[in-house]
Amino acid sequence: MTAMAADCLIVGGGPAGLTAAIYAARFRLTTVVVDAGGGRAAQIPRTRNHAGFPGGISGEALLDRMRTQAVSFGVDLRAGRVDAIGGSAGDFTAWLTQGEPVRTRAVILATGVSNHRPEIGEAAHAQALARGLLRYCPVCDGYEVTDRNVGVIGAGAHAVREASFLRAYTDRVTVIGPTAAPAFGAAQRAELAALGITVADGPASDIRVEATAISLEAAGRRLWFDTVYPALGSTVHSALAAGLGASLTADGCIRVDTHQRTSVPGVYAAGDVVIGLDQISHAMGEAGVAATTLRNDLAAATPQLRGPAAA
Ligand SMILES: Cc1cc2nc3c(=O)[nH]c(=O)nc-3n(C[C@H](O)[C@H](O)[C@H](O)COP(=O)(O)OP(=O)(O)OC[C@H]3O[C@@H](n4cnc5c(N)ncnc54)[C@H](O)[C@@H]3O)c2cc1C
Repeated sequence: MTAMAADCLIVGGGPAGLTAAIYAARFRLTTVVVDAGGGRAAQIPRTRNHAGFPGGISGEALLDRMRTQAVSFGVDLRAGRVDAIGGSAGDFTAWLTQGEPVRTRAVILATGVSNHRPEIGEAAHAQALARGLLRYCPVCDGYEVTDRNVGVIGAGAHAVREASFLRAYTDRVTVIGPTAAPAFGAAQRAELAALGITVADGPASDIRVEATAISLEAAGRRLWFDTVYPALGSTVHSALAAGLGASLTADGCIRVDTHQRTSVPGVYAAGDVVIGLDQISHAMGEAGVAATTLRNDLAAATPQLRGPAAA
């Protein structure tokens, strides 16, 4: 049988996972992080709303700082993917795509979500993201498109919400249906019209990164924008939680209590994978709570963790 490797295994090395790791290691718990990379934070060209960084910081630079901080307290950072977790509180085993399984007393799931992308090649997508021609998060960077010409690709209530939010920054917002099917019902069209938001029939296709703009084909018509926001939904990475039998919301997010405990004893969750505001600050806050709860739950079950004063 694999030897117990960790008090705390954290799956995911984004802002949530790395914050949890820093806390857990400073609680003197043996802490392993397994991270597959390429999460949402890693894609941020420059965040300007994350407090403490006037002038902003790129997602990768922020993650680099956090990794350095985590390793300085003894966190064992491993690149890889966790495919499944089994066991129960006090003794879980995580199986990785490659490498030895990890045996751990408790688990924090910080696996995030992935935005659905419109059809566009990988290189063009990276270029558009880096230049702010394509953006995914109006809460994060709506400020940056103030008075710009903005397109939103999407349908239904989600696209209405996103376009209405952006309308607070600019009076030039156009929503383009992702497919040839009607994107909105009559009431939604009226709501958009009342806000002065233009609706263009889909399908949105042939997205091109231009010299100073981004363009796309909308039902055969080429439209140019300063920025396009895809509002196409996302995939929640909660398969590990589901495999453990944890309770999920209808959207697939992991349900947690006010201390970030999932419905499975010994398993905690933080960040975008939990329902709530999908922001770095929120992910970090939840992760601090998750790691502290994990520490206190382990201490309640393991007297030697309580330290000399409490022994
Ligand atoms: C383009 C863009 C711009 C953004 N701008 C901002 C901004 O300016 N300000 C802001 O506050 N927020 C911003 N966000 C949102 C922010 O990125 C997220 O809220 C934040 O990254 C959530 O952190 P997280 O740790 O939960 O998830 P993530 O950063 O997505 O990290 C999750 C990690 O888990 C790993 N993982 C998943 N499954 C497994 C597995 N089975 N095994 C191992 N590893 C796994 C992934 O590989 C990934 O590295 C932006 C998002 C995008 C896409």
